[in-house]
Amino acid sequence: APPSTLAALDASKLRVTRNLKPAELPNPDNLQFGKNVTDHMLQVQWSESHGWHEPQIVPYGNLSIDPTAGVFNYAFECFEGMKAYKDAQGRPRLFRPEVNIARLNESAARVALPTFDSTAFLALLSEFVAMESRHIPSIRGYSLYLRPVLIGTNPGLSVSPPTTALLYVVASPVGSYFKDGTKAITLEAANSSQWVRAWPGGSGCHKVGANYAPCMMAEAWVRQRGSDQVLWLFGEHNLVTEAGTMNLFVVIRRPTGDRELVTPPLDGTILPGVNRDCVLRLAREKLEGHGWVVRERSISMGELEATAVAGNLEEVFGTGTAAVVSPIGSIRWEGREISCGTSSVQESVATKMRKWIEARQYGEDEHEWSVLV
Ligand code: PMP
Repeated sequence: APPSTLAALDASKLRVTRNLKPAELPNPDNLQFGKNVTDHMLQVQWSESHGWHEPQIVPYGNLSIDPTAGVFNYAFECFEGMKAYKDAQGRPRLFRPEVNIARLNESAARVALPTFDSTAFLALLSEFVAMESRHIPSIRGYSLYLRPVLIGTNPGLSVSPPTTALLYVVASPVGSYFKDGTKAITLEAANSSQWVRAWPGGSGCHKVGANYAPCMMAEAWVRQRGSDQVLWLFGEHNLVTEAGTMNLFVVIRRPTGDRELVTPPLDGTILPGVNRDCVLRLAREKLEGHGWVVRERSISMGELEATAVAGNLEEVFGTGTAAVVSPIGSIRWEGREISCGTSSVQESVATKMRKWIEARQYGEDEHEWSVLV
């Protein structure tokens, strides 16, 4: 059918089938990231001939998909990671959902999956969160992790754009991502002539599943050598890109006495993180001009090490939905250990950023980033 006659995603067509055996809520103390799921899932089928079908909320359960489907063979898949929070009044809130939804559409387009109307999807997501709100723990630091997924489902082994697809959302109550809270993590830089996460023109700047499995070898390698996560480098100049699945920030004290907050630019090797954007915006809102400059610029391992050796590396931290902000204590590189940070954790920008972002997530600092469902 010509694109103009295809059905758009339509939230008003939502059909709900309730789970008649809702599970007992897990003890919040025992929550492990992504292990517990809620009673329902949201799903919408798409076909080339029709467009978006009626959205449905159905009891959580297995999918039945042909083994020749594109998702299993050629990684026609993209996903998102976002959270719903409960404020002090017990109202569920989403945090900058339109940014995640836009990123999902961009990821979908990159791997030949269908795109959809963002407003309609936000309405559906809100409906789903409202329905599952008893699964959002009313405890500060806890939230309901939402995992939207889009996959190519049609049978057939030819390598070609999917003719049918499934968009679905599952939800998982979560506590603090890192068990030890804000304890600094350690990194080891992967040799960029051996393991590279992303490259200009590749898909590393999109949230497609195919980016993740190839990183596990390096993750396992650094863990075996005693570090927590990989620092991903790119190119002959060993530019720092990301840490594990977090964006990276560096705080440098400059000869002029002021401080520079640096994060690598969105040059195709960086996933445009929602929390990266929050940190940049908060820094420009609250720090810039008060002894701070904020820069999206490339930074090499050489510069990072020289800065540390000179005593001017004040902080390194990662950002991401799972942990919000994660201080980085040290980085191993070419057999040497770079100690990151002369700032105490209490006085760090990482700690400030976490507080500022969380205050908006939980609706304590009422702000347009937080959206009541
Ligand atoms: N980089 C990668 C590779 C990621 O998978 C994620 C998690 N989505 C991030 C960075 C952080 O992005 P966000 O702040 O949107 O969670």
